[in-house]
Amino acid sequence: MNIVLMGPPGAGKGTQADVMARNLFVPHISTGDIFRANIKAGTELGQLANQYISKGDLVPDEVTMGMIKDRLAEDDCAKGFILDGLPRTIGQADALEAILAEQGKKLDKVVNIDVPADLLITRLSGRRVCRNCSQTYHLENNPPTEPGRCDECGGELYQRADDSEETIKNRLDVYTEQSAPLIAYYEQKGLLLSINGNQSINKVLTDIGKGLGQSW
Ligand code: ADP
Ligand code: ADP
Ligand code: ZN
Repeated sequence: MNIVLMGPPGAGKGTQADVMARNLFVPHISTGDIFRANIKAGTELGQLANQYISKGDLVPDEVTMGMIKDRLAEDDCAKGFILDGLPRTIGQADALEAILAEQGKKLDKVVNIDVPADLLITRLSGRRVCRNCSQTYHLENNPPTEPGRCDECGGELYQRADDSEETIKNRLDVYTEQSAPLIAYYEQKGLLLSINGNQSINKVLTDIGKGLGQSW
């Protein structure tokens, strides 16, 4: 299954994509994770992307689409993928369709996780991420067993620099202006599955499963 997971920053895309990918035996492709890995490794792509990410702006479409084109061409995507964090503009959505068409593929579903704006700030400011494996936690909603340590790998948990209050505000504005129009775009294409994200992590997962015909 070729799936896109959409929603505003903090909606729960990464949290859900991780479990979905494990259940469906397909890769979880997070554009944010790929950019952060490049920033950490100090690559040219990472240095370029960081100029935008640190301010909460979108990395330019040409850069982002070049990166995702290469990723989608890898062997592990043959049986499907969960795309988390892309597309974020109508231009990216059109470009994605063209890339997939070249590979003889198309999207099966676009899952949109809907969460009211006022909740997103709490979600983002309480988010903590494992430095080692990228597993995501929340100080109140989904805390690790041992404070500051990843349950999966024992790695150190950190707060993303772009999860600061100032940058969060810009990211939410960018979402409203540039990404929210994708909901109508995919609705028109008959691909949209809208999910209430203002429920427990498990309930959201169950609802996504029902919508995709999966009983996980
Ligand atoms: P996104 O990838 O959409 O930015 P994340 O999956 O990183 O979102 O989730 C944002 C924060 O909210 C994380 O700290 C995560 O643990 C928490 N979270 C995710 N889903 C839920 C949920 N259904 N209820 C409460 N908190 C959640
Ligand atoms: P979140 O879902 O919490 O907003 P991500 O980890 O998905 O965060 O993305 C972090 C940052 O990486 C974004 O704020 C943006 O700067 C950049 N980014 C991620 N995906 C894209 C994309 N498809 N196009 C442009 N920039 C992106
Ligand atoms: Zn970890």
